[in-house]
Amino acid sequence: MRAAVMTGPGRLEVQDVDLLPPAPGRILVRTGATPFCVTDVMNSDGVFGKEPPTILGHASMGVVEELGPDAAGVRVGDRVVVHGTAECGRCFYCVRGRTDQCSVIFDRPDGPPPVARLADGSVATAAGNVGGYAELMSVDARQVVPVDTTVPDTVLGLLGCGVTTGLGSVFNVAAVVPGSDVAVVGCGQLGLWMVQGARLAGAGQIIALDPDPGRRERAAAVGATATLDPAEADPVEQVRSLTGGYGVTYALEAAGPALAQRQAVLMTHRGGTTVLTGCEPLGAELSLPQVPIALHGRTVVSSQNGRVRMHHDIPRFAAMLEDGRLDASLVGITEFTLDEIGEAKEAARAHRTVIGVIVPGER
Ligand SMILES: [Zn+2]
Ligand SMILES: [Zn+2]
Repeated sequence: MRAAVMTGPGRLEVQDVDLLPPAPGRILVRTGATPFCVTDVMNSDGVFGKEPPTILGHASMGVVEELGPDAAGVRVGDRVVVHGTAECGRCFYCVRGRTDQCSVIFDRPDGPPPVARLADGSVATAAGNVGGYAELMSVDARQVVPVDTTVPDTVLGLLGCGVTTGLGSVFNVAAVVPGSDVAVVGCGQLGLWMVQGARLAGAGQIIALDPDPGRRERAAAVGATATLDPAEADPVEQVRSLTGGYGVTYALEAAGPALAQRQAVLMTHRGGTTVLTGCEPLGAELSLPQVPIALHGRTVVSSQNGRVRMHHDIPRFAAMLEDGRLDASLVGITEFTLDEIGEAKEAARAHRTVIGVIVPGER
């Protein structure tokens, strides 16, 4: 099969590879559509700890093609969302209700499992346990959620990535109270789902911040009540001036840089809550002033994949996309073939696309 393999930092090559037969508990899924998000830019640059050779693409969707020994819970022919988090249900984290931290993805002393053999004889792993930039994916059967929906492949593929993280940040992590004011810092794919989530949660003001005028326009189209350019003046002061001098109750950060995260925290009022989702290269640090947190009661939380429970949340998010309560058309999906993956990467890096989606079945 054909796959985009990260063969070294910054090197992403489309190659013919031999898929290994699925190990016990694993299945093969024919790939429908795999997003190319900012995480993949960092993964392919080699700044996020992925060891080459590896097939990138950390969330996807497709149709189940083959079951390995002892694979349960799915049937050949099922249309499935493939997400990176296995939710094994038994590890230290799963039994404490933190399936978003499941050991199957985060604690692998031997690295991710091998999935394919390259022409030079070396064995490639699948990044983030998915490996969606390939015609077929070899994944853990616990990592897929069957969905019965008319939502198109390119949108469904976002359910293991931006949709779940964005909506989960609003519903599960912040648990936005109707009528309260929300700021969304960064209006890429993630931020645009956060804006839609805040609208569905019945937020009062939804203030969206992004330096890119096109992204601010999209934010307004999906439900932001005000949009701000953080480059124009101090974004914290701009948000305070829209909220009677207080700040918002919830700041949802989807930008990445530590400065944006610090600003997000400070644009909440005393006692407010900030949800951080952004992440720059490994080793980046965030520093925050003590008094606004220690004395002023602000809460700072994080949102790995929106703390969703995949089998519970993915089908209901898919239903909301199908009935129009969530609108993917305004988010801005750009399709690429596997051979165009280099273009998808540079477009994502330069913010020319909101979200690129690789469709490996097309040439
Ligand atoms: Zn687990
Ligand atoms: Zn992603």
